Amino acid sequence: MTPVRMQGWPQWPPPATEEQRERLLAVLDGGAWGATAGTETESFAAAFARSVGAAYGVCTVNGTVALFLALRALGVGPGDEVVVPAYTFVASATAVVLAGARPVVADVLPGTLHLDPEAARRLTGPRTRAVMPVHLAGAPADTEALRSLGVPVVEDAAQAHGASRHGRPAGSLGHAGCFSFQSGKAMTAGEGGIVVTDDLETYERLWSLHNVGRRRDGGWYEHPELGWNLRMTEFQAALLHPQLALLDGQLEHRAARAATLGRQLARVEGLEPLGNPAGTTRHTWHLAVLRYDPVAFAGHPKRAFLDAMAAEGVPLDAGYRSLSREPWTAGGPCPVAEAAEDTVVWVRQPMLMADDAAMADIAGAALVVQRDFRRRPFSR
Ligand SMILES: *Cc1c(COP(=O)(O)O)cnc(C)c1O
Repeated sequence: MTPVRMQGWPQWPPPATEEQRERLLAVLDGGAWGATAGTETESFAAAFARSVGAAYGVCTVNGTVALFLALRALGVGPGDEVVVPAYTFVASATAVVLAGARPVVADVLPGTLHLDPEAARRLTGPRTRAVMPVHLAGAPADTEALRSLGVPVVEDAAQAHGASRHGRPAGSLGHAGCFSFQSGKAMTAGEGGIVVTDDLETYERLWSLHNVGRRRDGGWYEHPELGWNLRMTEFQAALLHPQLALLDGQLEHRAARAATLGRQLARVEGLEPLGNPAGTTRHTWHLAVLRYDPVAFAGHPKRAFLDAMAAEGVPLDAGYRSLSREPWTAGGPCPVAEAAEDTVVWVRQPMLMADDAAMADIAGAALVVQRDFRRRPFSR
């Protein structure tokens, strides 16, 4: 049998641009490879912060470290607790552990898979020092509801470069916003991260903590703060800066593909995209999150569906396991996130960089798989 889709999928990151090559080589030949020697990192940090409506930015080696840095700068440390959603990449929680605190995992909302503000409220106690909404898939979470908890809001915007909620960019919805530039993200240098903030005092702390505890006006070997070398290289910044100008076009492309995919999937019973959360003014479509209903697929479990789709040339993703399952997290069971393990599949960003015909192939493959499953209902 020939698969529904013979053609491959776009590569990510896309091929380097001429400007990226030039800037990268300029750093290489200039010899100032580190951020303390060159100017690329600082200039990118300022430009990125501006692009998300924040006053300041501090670049880091990766997104996990950006979260760690933001938590420490906002005063999170040993003995503290940070509320994180159950349905997210593990780094949201491990960054809390890195900061010496305890990740308390709260359940998510079924319609968005975002941190449930009521669940977060129930888990907020005297030790809670921060809450970390995750803008899952590139849709901004409800940060207003979380602000009312009365603790600093650290946004995990690792999937949300360019997203906005009620017209305000992700990254400037809380007290600090953290982004990742890891290979799979919307802007990438292979690795990298940034923390943005509007607060000068927080910025000074971020800057000091990521720069071995130095002060801007202090000496090279004066370390009044307990800090670390968490700095990005000039190579990373040189690769990233030109991407700022490309982001808008890529976001528009993916939004158009996501709309097509939604229309195409209307033909497939039991495979439904998660809608835009209320208040979303820009979704970045890092992922298109789909609900898989095994009943509509003659009882076949999600794993079988994913295998069959891959055989049709459409490699979807199984997504996260609920963090409530991991022995090193605190909090109670999270029924919504745990149910998502069996009912949620992802279409990843590079697939949404393809054309409209590719979106038709995704739906077409699902129909073929469904027809086959219905001919042979699942039995244990
Ligand atoms: C990618 C990602 C991170 C971590 O970023 P790294 O750069 O890989 O360390 C954190 N949270 C979420 C939701 C992510 O998707």
